[in-house]
Amino acid sequence: MPVLRTHILNVGRADTIILELPRDDNKKVIGIIDCCDFALTKQYLERKGLDKPDLVQFMVATHPHYDHIGGMQELLEMFVNNGTEVYMFLDSGYEHTSLTYENLMQFLIDHPNIITWYPRTGLQVLFGRLNVRVLSPPEPIPTGTASDCNNASIVLLLTYGSSKLLFAGDAQFTNWSHCCVSQQDFLKAQVLKVSHHGSKHGTFLEALEAINPRIAVVSGENNLNDPNGGFPHPLTVETMNELGVTEVYCTYQHNDIIIESQANARHSVTHL
Ligand SMILES: [Zn+2]
Repeated sequence: MPVLRTHILNVGRADTIILELPRDDNKKVIGIIDCCDFALTKQYLERKGLDKPDLVQFMVATHPHYDHIGGMQELLEMFVNNGTEVYMFLDSGYEHTSLTYENLMQFLIDHPNIITWYPRTGLQVLFGRLNVRVLSPPEPIPTGTASDCNNASIVLLLTYGSSKLLFAGDAQFTNWSHCCVSQQDFLKAQVLKVSHHGSKHGTFLEALEAINPRIAVVSGENNLNDPNGGFPHPLTVETMNELGVTEVYCTYQHNDIIIESQANARHSVTHL
């Protein structure tokens, strides 16, 4: 059986995630969730022989903070210039006024062949054997929260057979409470990309209990010198330990992290 391979790159307190989709043929089909730094991503893709895939099935900008979209437009440009089809782009629809976001949106307007969606809770797309379900954000996206941009994060549940992986972007309490109320049937996953680099605002106890992950990955940085607890916050790590998350990986400790998922809920993690 083919595997789903997830690469969570060591890019500091930022997100860059590359997915190699499970295929029955020999085609290289990838998905991207966030891209903070183009040069690093390009280098990594080249190293793995993924810079000229047969298809980029989807790219997701979970929300428009720079640490999630900083390299996205250049990455799109690279694929387009290589002649690689980018099938679909998912954007939160949270309108950020930064030039980075405006330019990215303009690029998508200029390339109407790339399907651009602003997905909301409940949307499901099947890409071959991989089911992509949007758990959040709801419509309308929350306002008046501690961070409306983070709370607009697209939260994705990827299902391959009985394997489930949840990518939380930078979701915070409002976003998680919405998931707990309206998506509770889908809040179960063996693998969790911990929200918001492991900050204490990104992990919501009720949601974590419902997800009940076995493996958690934090895209964070060394917090030893941060008087505020840094990323990941000790509370987040403690909460995960208490809830019995057996494997916790952090990019600053484990470097680039690769998860190979079989269709039968078996996941194996390698890192440098
Ligand atoms: Zn972030």
